[in-house]
Amino acid sequence: MRRARVPLGVPPDTPTRRMNPASVPLVEGRIVKAQSGFFTVESEEGRFICHLRGRLKQKRLATDVAAVGDRVRIRRASDGTARIEEVSPRQSVLSRRSPRQEARKPGPEQVLVANPDQTLFVFACAEPSPHLRMLDRFLIAAERFHLPALVCANKIDLVGRPEAETLFERYRAAGYPVLYTSAQSGEGVEQVREALCDKLTVLSGPSGAGKSSLLNRLCPGLGLRVSRISRATSKGRHTTVVPEIFALDFGGYVADTPGLKAMALWDVGPEDLEEYFPEMRPFLGGCAFNNCTHDTEPGCLVKEAVLQGRIHPERYDSYLRLRRGQP
Ligand code: GDP
Ligand code: ZN
Repeated sequence: MRRARVPLGVPPDTPTRRMNPASVPLVEGRIVKAQSGFFTVESEEGRFICHLRGRLKQKRLATDVAAVGDRVRIRRASDGTARIEEVSPRQSVLSRRSPRQEARKPGPEQVLVANPDQTLFVFACAEPSPHLRMLDRFLIAAERFHLPALVCANKIDLVGRPEAETLFERYRAAGYPVLYTSAQSGEGVEQVREALCDKLTVLSGPSGAGKSSLLNRLCPGLGLRVSRISRATSKGRHTTVVPEIFALDFGGYVADTPGLKAMALWDVGPEDLEEYFPEMRPFLGGCAFNNCTHDTEPGCLVKEAVLQGRIHPERYDSYLRLRRGQP
């Protein structure tokens, strides 16, 4: 039997811990930052830097035990430290597998954000001109993770509303809410606030689209903190970024995930693609060939819908390019 260890210089019978730790109530919180085995948890009682309870760490799971966005219960100790005792089951996840495992057998997943409620993709109407095929790929990633997606068409002050709609109405037609904004004039920003309120939103979009400016409009100072992270990741793919979600002062969080672009299609097979274009779904299963790829086959309902203007030709073109493995 091991003898209880007593700190040096303390008489053996001095109680070093009076409180039974199990009697301290658990506090509910959410992980907002993860760094080298430490987790910052935001709770009603404040922010605490926590470590994981040993038993949780030992669990060999096919996923990260804890990640930003996870809802947790923590126990505070009298010495000011805190420990994560429980991690709630995830409702949703944005994840990837480590690249070295991607090629062969599925390895443990690396969680980028736990429990995201939705995604918001910000693209500028101009400066830089929007790369809509990239937006199509982002939307596929959202579909793949079963996350509702919102599109934000920013910088409408540069082109005017009609031109902005020419570019982005195809997404509304596909079933995605489109928010038209100008972070510069403030137009439409209120709708962004309403959309983000009380949700954990994964924010993404090309650099220069105005993500930080929009966040600054919503919560002064927040955009600056977020853009620091974006810049770190755009420097190179090996730059490590500390996963973090940012609290919105009107309620909710945003997660800035520039890496979404790279991961968008990591495990989407060509035959899965049709499912990830929501406007194609009503026509699936009705083509003359039941393994129709909606490319050159006769009797294809999807192509018919494109001709009838029920599917936007550019969205269909995006589908075809991805389906054929073209860049
Ligand atoms: P991020 O890289 O997506 O975070 O983009 P930034 O917020 O840093 O914005 C990039 C540039 O676009 C900055 O010079 C902003 O001032 C500018 N910008 C952002 N939003 C707007 C907008 O709505 N209208 C105009 N004209 N410029 C904007
Ligand atoms: Zn077809």
